[in-house]
Amino acid sequence: MDVTPILESLNDAQRQAVTAPAEPTLVIAGAGSGKTRVLVHRAAWLIDVEGVSPQGLLAVTFTNKAAAEMRGRIEALLGMPVSHLWIGTFHGLAHRLLRRHWREAKLPQNFQIIDSDDQLRLIKRLLKNLEIDDSRWVPKEIQWFINAQKDEGLRPQHLDDERDSNRRQMISLYAAYEEICERGGLVDFAELLLRAHELWRDNADLLAHYRRRFQHLLVDEFQDTNAIQYAWLRLLAGDEGVPFVVGDDDQSIYRWRGARVEHIHQFQRDFPSAKVIKLEQNYRSTATILNAANAVIANNAERMGKNLWTDGAKGEAIKLYAAYNERDESDFVIGRLRDWIEQGNLRADAAVLYRSNAQSRVLEEGLINAAIPYRVYGGLRFFERAEIKDALAYLRLISHRDDDASFERIVNRPTRGIGARTVEIMRGYARANSCPMWRAAGAVASDELAGRAANAVLAFMNLIERMTTETARLDLQDQVDHVIHASGLVDMFRNDKGERGETKLENLMELVSAAKSFAPDPAEEMSPLDEFLSHAALEAGEGQAEAWEDCVQLMTMHSAKGLEFPLVFLCGLEDGLFPHQRSIADPNGLEEERRLCYVGITRAKQTLYVTYAEQRRLYGMDSFSQPSRFISEIPDEYVEEIRPRVQVSRPLRSKTRTSIKTAADAEMGVRLGQRVRHGKFGDGVILNYEGQGAHARVEVNFETAGTKWLVLSYANLDLM
Ligand code: ATP
Ligand code: MG
Repeated sequence: MDVTPILESLNDAQRQAVTAPAEPTLVIAGAGSGKTRVLVHRAAWLIDVEGVSPQGLLAVTFTNKAAAEMRGRIEALLGMPVSHLWIGTFHGLAHRLLRRHWREAKLPQNFQIIDSDDQLRLIKRLLKNLEIDDSRWVPKEIQWFINAQKDEGLRPQHLDDERDSNRRQMISLYAAYEEICERGGLVDFAELLLRAHELWRDNADLLAHYRRRFQHLLVDEFQDTNAIQYAWLRLLAGDEGVPFVVGDDDQSIYRWRGARVEHIHQFQRDFPSAKVIKLEQNYRSTATILNAANAVIANNAERMGKNLWTDGAKGEAIKLYAAYNERDESDFVIGRLRDWIEQGNLRADAAVLYRSNAQSRVLEEGLINAAIPYRVYGGLRFFERAEIKDALAYLRLISHRDDDASFERIVNRPTRGIGARTVEIMRGYARANSCPMWRAAGAVASDELAGRAANAVLAFMNLIERMTTETARLDLQDQVDHVIHASGLVDMFRNDKGERGETKLENLMELVSAAKSFAPDPAEEMSPLDEFLSHAALEAGEGQAEAWEDCVQLMTMHSAKGLEFPLVFLCGLEDGLFPHQRSIADPNGLEEERRLCYVGITRAKQTLYVTYAEQRRLYGMDSFSQPSRFISEIPDEYVEEIRPRVQVSRPLRSKTRTSIKTAADAEMGVRLGQRVRHGKFGDGVILNYEGQGAHARVEVNFETAGTKWLVLSYANLDLM
């Protein structure tokens, strides 16, 4: 057999990993050293050379996008499509199992997946029902508590209150939440994993079946598995399975969500015969970028330690830009992107990365003004937009009357005369009779409600019944189309003149096209509609990935894990933003932020820009900040400053007065927030800054004279 294509363009260590014997294997290696590549080649090798059936492989990746890519690459290597090969995220694979074995998993056949928004809403409703003060018991904290327990594999009955009344209350809320989910057939993200684990743990025959089937378990980004994911893998592997896991301890960035890098050590304890393979050559980045990344991560104490080198070119210096504020930062990034595109490069080869989702808004505005197509991964995603969730709620209720979250979302949307009081009465009935809102609605409409309210409720129920019959025989796309019209959503947004209504209409239409391009899996036992709804909940945010248009990529550094781009911008490198405020005081937190920085830097292949702003308005608040400590951890020799950081080194209020006489003086002395004195207007504070050289202007807020724009070289300002 000709094995060259599979082993071609692999170095010795990579080849050793790909052809390793059927024993537990751990590949531990730095960014860009070919771990994902090794995984793909290993799968192809097993199928083509070792004669393993594609059915015998289970591959776990970190995103659905990565899963699709991996499948494509394996097929390309083999030169043929492979069916029955399970590749997916932990969540996606768990979902698949639960759909197949809903009975054994003790779930209703048409169980619904709820995303984290739905989950939060459910918790809020629960607090209200129990008349618990949500300022004392913060819904987000409860949500966090519940998910953290599930991630550890713990049900309420496993938890000890440790004689702590707070903890006791949390546990009882967890139990109450579970009851609601149970009753409505609702499954949150953490529950998918926990249920899938219990499914195998409690069904020996089923476990034996899957152990026989999946002999080879391939796992990417192993450093970011949480306890329940690891337990699931461990259970599946048993004593006979062959786990082949690849990861990088320096890229563990989900500790805050329960991931434990310690699983790398656990793996070696659980599989003492495991072979450990290290890859040390980086093929992704220039030497400059790689050295900078290595220098930053060297500041972490908790490391397994590895060498990473490249024989690639030195490449260009990392460009550092100190912006005045977030707008200036965005203008800078957009200017550079424009150059990049004008030089004939692909937009999709450029990525703008940031620490916090909210940073994208200003960048997006700039991109829209500059008419540069872009795509945001994560953040407010298509399936998470309000109008899309409205439409999905109708579809859910059509398929599943017990879905209370959907019921409440749309019962009066568009408005149809069902007020808060009526809803409250229905809730009261549902609570008292432990029944879904749908049943409660029917009951109170005939007994408790006055004429007009009762009619409104009955009309709503009729509408849902009618839509159910009318769509029963339609195909998915027409079902969606019918529902957005018959529900009144389209009319509602059409009457909402202006851009917002327009966009929402467009989004609803986009949902119809999403349904059109959705290919139901014939092997699944559920209806195409249910499958589509699960897809919407699971793939939220990644749906955008099939962009037909070439566009600039915007995403958080977290979502950029595993990806690579010729041109990368890391924005907002300010202490407090990155590293994030809440992690600065905590050494573990700070190390995790530094690993995130390492991930960010190592996404770049050729060109890397790092930017920060001296003043930033974020979440509606203004703040002044210092450049991120991570910037100073990059050795100077790799950095080229685009605008020297003279301003930052000045104290905010220096005692000595300096007069600004020339433009050069001005640029040296001006910083936002700087106090100044003007001969005529008196004392003030610099709010804004524009232009350069002779054109430099500042906006000053004078204590008595108000806000004024002044040309620096004429204004004769004294710095205070
Ligand atoms: P990360 O830690 O960021 O996930 P990784 O270790 O998974 O990175 P890959 O994404 O597999 O690394 O590889 C990085 C880049 O290097 C890819 O573009 C890949 O095609 C290329 N590459 C890896 N190994 C080789 C090789 N032996 N020859 C040529 N190119 C290679
Ligand atoms: Mg990878």
